Amino acid sequence: MAKVYIGIGSNIGDRQGFIRRALKLMPDYGVYVEKVSEIIETPPYGYEEQPPFLNCVAEVVTFLPPLRLLKALQDIEHRLGRVRVIRWGPRTIDLDILFYDDLVVNTPALKIPHPDMGNRLFVLKPLAEIAPNMTHPVTGKTVSEMLRELEETPQRS
Ligand code: ATP
Ligand code: CA
Ligand code: CA
Repeated sequence: MAKVYIGIGSNIGDRQGFIRRALKLMPDYGVYVEKVSEIIETPPYGYEEQPPFLNCVAEVVTFLPPLRLLKALQDIEHRLGRVRVIRWGPRTIDLDILFYDDLVVNTPALKIPHPDMGNRLFVLKPLAEIAPNMTHPVTGKTVSEMLRELEETPQRS
């Protein structure tokens, strides 16, 4: 079975409820949740004129290969009423594959590890809580190291 980390975010309506429902739907697709980080509230990223997010990270195990897993997560997003309007815009639920074992995938439809994770505190903080020693398969850095580096980087803007 593959061990996978999924970044979860919600910023519309009953945010906590959408996160809980997404986690509850995963086993229907053969995605078994083993750990969930604390949920943190974070300001919007990328496109700022929208409500704050709740974010967390789940550790799951699955037999689904990466693209099938992506389809399953998109199906869950769809079932929870996600409508794609603007990139980085408001959504009921967002499910991103962060790591899939130590696999590297680089296609337009799917990039693993998630390419922007190193720039996102709302990903690295909850990930560091449940998987501090997981190493990035390309850079060789641990999640704790990535978090420390981002925290030491002066904020732009
Ligand atoms: P970001 O990916 O920067 O966090 P986003 O989550 O807002 O932005 P979406 O609109 O949810 O972006 O997804 C756009 C596309 O990203 C999806 O259709 C999917 O094919 C692709 N994608 C590429 N890599 C991944 C990944 N690791 N996990 C989830 N989707 C991915
Ligand atoms: Ca995302
Ligand atoms: Ca996404």
